[in-house]
Amino acid sequence: MKIASAALALLVSNALALPDPRFDDKPEKTAPVAAARVPAAAVNEADARVWVEFEAPGKAERQAAVDAGVSIEELRPGMAAGIAAPQALARAKAAGLKVRAVVTLRQRFGALDFPPKDAIYHNYGELEADMRALAARAPGLASVFSIGKSTLGRDLWAVRLTKGASGAKPGIVFLGAHHAREHLSTEVPLLLAKHLVDNRADPEIARLLETRDIYFVPMVNPDGAEYDVEGGKYHMHRKNMARNADGSTGVDLNRNYGWGWGGGGASPDPGDDTYRGPAAFSEPESRAVRAFVEARPNLKILLSYHTFSELILYPWGGTNDPIPDAKALSAFKSMAGEMAKMTGYTPEQSSDLYVATGDTCDWAWGEKGIFAFTFELTPKSMWDGGFYPGAAAVQKTFRANIRPALYLIDLADDPLRAAKGGASR
Ligand SMILES: [Zn+2]
Repeated sequence: MKIASAALALLVSNALALPDPRFDDKPEKTAPVAAARVPAAAVNEADARVWVEFEAPGKAERQAAVDAGVSIEELRPGMAAGIAAPQALARAKAAGLKVRAVVTLRQRFGALDFPPKDAIYHNYGELEADMRALAARAPGLASVFSIGKSTLGRDLWAVRLTKGASGAKPGIVFLGAHHAREHLSTEVPLLLAKHLVDNRADPEIARLLETRDIYFVPMVNPDGAEYDVEGGKYHMHRKNMARNADGSTGVDLNRNYGWGWGGGGASPDPGDDTYRGPAAFSEPESRAVRAFVEARPNLKILLSYHTFSELILYPWGGTNDPIPDAKALSAFKSMAGEMAKMTGYTPEQSSDLYVATGDTCDWAWGEKGIFAFTFELTPKSMWDGGFYPGAAAVQKTFRANIRPALYLIDLADDPLRAAKGGASR
């Protein structure tokens, strides 16, 4: 997640290439069911990370904390708080940050129990089963395929929705769960795909399915997501499950993309929650997304769901500068503003709170010219549930995100239409 900016007490709080990577006008062949089991993740159970609260009267303190390797999760007037490995805490102190409180994650969050009360959320196996069921009940419209493998060898499942063969259609992709503990970001794209299939007779949706090429990858980080609920408890895990050279676990996939990689707000320390990895695209998950995008030059829009804070973010995240293309910037702002009206979320440039480099959207826009947004979904604050907002948040958040999704799918033929005010349907 990336946090919120608004004023008061706002909490924030070996990729495989596709068999046929070229864009075409036929549905993907739904992948056969594989029997392989994924090995259990080897993780150090002794979690030394802490919850740290510090004085942050302005952006300079937030940036100093992020640059020290703290993952900021919560804002209050004059204060910020987040998760830090011991060495990140030491760096933050050395940088002069005024630390007010340090507690263990367990002290801060208690025993984080998961199922059965949150059983509505999909684990990896349930996600795959639901995606296959979707493809089975909509032949000729929906297909399921893998965009590559995770660190531990899990397939990264995608569902494609497009009807008929009409040549090169403009494309859009919805991504979820770059960050393991952000489970709601898997539910929303999955439910959106189901919604389009279930309502395919609706005239507006039928038109979009005929004229657009629509992809959903609801769980970019399945290893981390599975670990986060292992043993029926939440682990507050953010990164993937890479075994780092120093013995720590995980790379922050949303700091691992190759546009501005290695700059501010992305830690070089493997033990930090925001560890950027040893190199740009060092991780199979980010490489798989890259290969998926590069194989489909028809993709015009990308939406990466995260949680939480209720924000709609557009590039850049890695610098305070606006993107240089004035017309595109106008379109970005217009689109973010329209979707903010639909959801009640807050639109802003991604770096408004602090600079963080190597994210999906900076790469998609900077390298590929794809209109790319990060949505920080429900809830608004840690006090409303933070990363674990409960079963009731699923339908509510999905419902709030139908209209923005349809709006973006429609705009995929020419996102610059938004700058001209021509996209209101
Ligand atoms: Zn996130």
